[in-house]
Amino acid sequence: MDTSPTRLLIHGASGRMGQALLRLAAEQSACTVVAAVTRRAPAQRVVDGVPHFAATELGGVPAFDAAVDFSLPEGFDAVLALCVDRGCPLVSGTTGIDAAQQDALATAATRIPLVWASNFSLGVAVLAELVERAAAALPGWEVDIVESHHVHKKDAPSGTALTLGHAAGGAGQAVRYASLRAGDIVGEHMVQFTGLGERIELTHRATHRDIFARGALHVARSLVGRPPGAYRVRDLLD
Ligand code: NAD
Repeated sequence: MDTSPTRLLIHGASGRMGQALLRLAAEQSACTVVAAVTRRAPAQRVVDGVPHFAATELGGVPAFDAAVDFSLPEGFDAVLALCVDRGCPLVSGTTGIDAAQQDALATAATRIPLVWASNFSLGVAVLAELVERAAAALPGWEVDIVESHHVHKKDAPSGTALTLGHAAGGAGQAVRYASLRAGDIVGEHMVQFTGLGERIELTHRATHRDIFARGALHVARSLVGRPPGAYRVRDLLD
């Protein structure tokens, strides 16, 4: 059995999620970061032993076993193309990708194993299942999703809100969304089912973004060696 650490490329390494990924990966002997990629040229070429690259240098990064992408939609196409080109798994949490990018993901999944998820927390995977069950059991109830995030978040509604809306809408309900941007909120999602004279609220609160980074690193390691396909976080979290 191969016990060598999984070689990771971190795409979006200078961001809030990228920094969490680098810190947590450094604590794990099961993986090693061989390339950290940021939009602009890095101030230092090597930081804590990790080689850094600008997005324009992506084609020249060393061999890696899996890429973990938490960047922005404008950086997404390049890392997806690199993974297909190198035949390497991709884990992406980048939200706000458009329909063409989603189509490109589906096409790539015929060539490489990949996970794109709007949320890598186990709690949200369970919340989505609860929402699915509640929506199926409560036809005709109104469904509202309220999501809150920090002021730097650009896309709205959040990718997680859309995923939860998809889970609720499967039973035919129309879903309304409301987005709040305030302070340093890591991420909160409340799904409200309203019937005549009664209401159910299902809420998830993320208090630390390490939950997403830890989940993404776990998923990246689990994807190595799997056949091509689009996997879900809940398929790989055990
Ligand atoms: P951020 O703005 O702090 O960081 C963005 C990073 O992307 C930076 O390192 C930047 O250099 C890089 N980048 C931007 N454009 C690029 C390009 N063209 N090429 C290469 N790199 C580029 O953002 P953040 O808070 O770290 O979030 C990053 C993404 O992850 C967002 O889409 C956010 O919504 C998403 N997110 C997902 C989850 C999840 O669990 N799926 C959790 C938190 C955040």
